[in-house]
Amino acid sequence: MTKDMPYAEVIGDPIAHSKSPMIHKFWLDRLAMEADYRAFLVTPVELSGYIDQRQADPAWRGCNVTIPHKIAMLDLVADPGGVRQKIGAMNTVVRQADGSLIGTNTDAAGFLAPIADSDWSGKHAILIGAGGAARAVIFALKQAGIGEITIIARSGLKASGLLMQSSVKGSILPMDARLPEADLLINASPLGMTGQPPLAVDLAPLPTDALVYDLVYAPLETGLLRAAKKRDLAVVDGLDMLIGQAALAFELFFGATPPMEHDDELRKLLVA
Ligand code: NAP
Repeated sequence: MTKDMPYAEVIGDPIAHSKSPMIHKFWLDRLAMEADYRAFLVTPVELSGYIDQRQADPAWRGCNVTIPHKIAMLDLVADPGGVRQKIGAMNTVVRQADGSLIGTNTDAAGFLAPIADSDWSGKHAILIGAGGAARAVIFALKQAGIGEITIIARSGLKASGLLMQSSVKGSILPMDARLPEADLLINASPLGMTGQPPLAVDLAPLPTDALVYDLVYAPLETGLLRAAKKRDLAVVDGLDMLIGQAALAFELFFGATPPMEHDDELRKLLVA
């Protein structure tokens, strides 16, 4: 990579598992664009120094933001779209031509895309986790007209804050609670991810037409999705959301639409 070549990054801690570089590089390659995208480890204490340092680099087009920085980032860059108030978490930072930095969130649209064909109005969703991704999920579900959300989280306080902010009807349960009956179960915690503890949940209370959606994509088939398939429940894995949110970020970083006609090839590459 030459010094002036445009580049973007995905930052987090840990970050080695991220599939974002593979996706963005795949699109850059297909479009024959001279640019790069890489993973970069940034710990919480390094975050504001990272932003200052990258802001001074005109070749840096911006970054995707993952665990544990999505909320901290709200305090570091401008928020013209009102992401702080609407979602409360940022997953994308873009460096403008004048050097200013703006943040946005592409997770909500990326989450909804694979389930947008179903009618969720008045339905009941269970959401596991109350972090950055959960905030985007709640915003997206509210837009889709969801009737009720039960949040299962280890911090009841955090979860009730999210519910209150969203003004969606709902309730909070502890991690070891028995699942209520619901139309949609979403895992927005890192449980089940490679290197993390498994997600211990009994799916028996879910009706046969429920959908189970795991945001975790490494591994692609999590223990949760395996258990759901065993019960013949419909499943959505984390890859669709990952590709959807990445496509929006790619346009912002590189000013080009990703060649989505190669999506099947990309999915195969990501699961190889
Ligand atoms: P985050 O902001 O760190 O939030 C994680 C949430 O999970 C927090 O509520 C946290 O609880 C909870 N949690 C963490 N470890 C736990 C444990 N051992 N037991 C119970 N709860 C635990 O992370 P995030 O950005 O929301 O990401 C969450 C997951 O979604 C990750 O696996 C990430 O890879 C995935 N994700 C996927 C996509 C995609 O495109 N497919 C997009 C975004 C995120 P506390 O609040 O108590 O810390």
